[in-house]
Amino acid sequence: MKTFRIRGGIHPDYKKELASEQAIEALPLPERLYIPLQQHIGAMGDVVVAVGERVGKGQLLARSYGAFSAAQHAPTSGVVVEITSLPAPHPSGLPQTTVVIEPDGEEAWADLPGALADPFAAPPEAIRARVAECGIVGMGGAAFPAAVKLDLGLRYPLDTLIINGAECEPYLTCDDRIMRERADEVADGGRLMAHALGVDKVLIAIEENKPQAIERMREATASVQGRPGVAVVPVPVQYPMGSERHLVLAVTGRETPARKLTAEVGVVVNNVATARAVHQAIRHGRPLTARVVTVSGGAIRQPKNVEVPIGTRIADVVAFCGGFSSEPARLVNGGPMMGQPLPGLEVPIVKGSSGVLALTAAELHAAAPNPCIRCGNCVSICPCGLVPVEMAANIRHDKLDVAERLGVGDCMSCGSCSWVCPSHIPLVQFFNFAKGALAAEQREARKQEQIRVRAEARTARLDREAAERKAAMAARKAAAAKPNEVRA
Ligand code: SF4
Ligand code: SF4
Repeated sequence: MKTFRIRGGIHPDYKKELASEQAIEALPLPERLYIPLQQHIGAMGDVVVAVGERVGKGQLLARSYGAFSAAQHAPTSGVVVEITSLPAPHPSGLPQTTVVIEPDGEEAWADLPGALADPFAAPPEAIRARVAECGIVGMGGAAFPAAVKLDLGLRYPLDTLIINGAECEPYLTCDDRIMRERADEVADGGRLMAHALGVDKVLIAIEENKPQAIERMREATASVQGRPGVAVVPVPVQYPMGSERHLVLAVTGRETPARKLTAEVGVVVNNVATARAVHQAIRHGRPLTARVVTVSGGAIRQPKNVEVPIGTRIADVVAFCGGFSSEPARLVNGGPMMGQPLPGLEVPIVKGSSGVLALTAAELHAAAPNPCIRCGNCVSICPCGLVPVEMAANIRHDKLDVAERLGVGDCMSCGSCSWVCPSHIPLVQFFNFAKGALAAEQREARKQEQIRVRAEARTARLDREAAERKAAMAARKAAAAKPNEVRA
């Protein structure tokens, strides 16, 4: 199948060989599991269990709250020993409500609804409802509630679902291993999601540096009959091919307008691990309670791909991989390009944790920044067509409004510009700072606007009440004067 060129992009040292030949291993149950109630984009769930309560594997711990939220479930059977506030796997390390479970070692499933009978004959909303019940979120890192994404077919005329198997971030190999070892589940999950979206076509896009995944997915999809149809599309190896809008461009030739959803051009994109989770939810009634994580980097003794119960402390996962072979210079949640620094080893694995990287100083290529030499490298590689050098110069001079006009809001923080900069200028850090500051400004402006509207409404109410009081007083005076008039 023909593919299309994407703009810019880079070819970093992928380092996939560290873990790509390591088959998925299941992590033994740790002594305790720490399940944060907000592992997704959106509102925190409403807790429905109490301390001391015995729970089965897959039992609901917190139901979703509001439209953009996701339910959380017990990753194993055991006892809820604490509901407390603990640091989350985010650079801020800010605490959030966490359910702590002491496993009983039995892995006894709760009373779950079971398989959805004949799902391709079921109405699409039945698939979407089950995906929501099972707490599935985008597992490529975004952690957007999957059921909300499956609703896009109600709002946009869609024709294609792309299953994202690009996995373009260096080091990460968990999606590669899932496709090689669970190809049938990925293909089935993709077709089920296509049914929920109301589209006839599923394209599984895989970077050409994963030939075994391409072969296994082709074998798994060869015998698929009827609709939705499914095909495997090898795409060029080029970071950031895994970005949704770039993958859509590479596979379909359709360009998604800036700040718009790919659904606007008829396409929805979901990750391979998400497709597998949907298969498990629909075919077995199982909520999302574990995920495959790549544990890699030069400071990890035995890089692996590990199936980890959600809520396992990163310290337990690192210990399973032999611990550190040297002191890591940086711990990263996700890939080295777009991942976030981890605040420590005590935070848990969550649904969006695709990788845990322990990088050495040599792997970070850290160097003191030098002045810009106007080489233009950052401009020619930016996959979003931005001018990083100009945006950074304006941000440095506190001209956020100019940076905004230059399109800093369209920057996807892929880090390609920083990676090619010969002067080692941390460009992406400027853009992340600017985006955060602009978002804070917009929040403040919205708050001020709400205060103004409320103040105006209050003034109008007070004026109205005063007028009403005045009118009532005048009416009373008029009524009091009438008998005198009669007497006169
Ligand atoms: S980080 Fe932003 S500005 Fe830099 S290359 Fe990526 S999209 Fe372009
Ligand atoms: S790549 Fe670095 S040195 Fe070259 S123009 Fe961009 S900011 Fe300047």
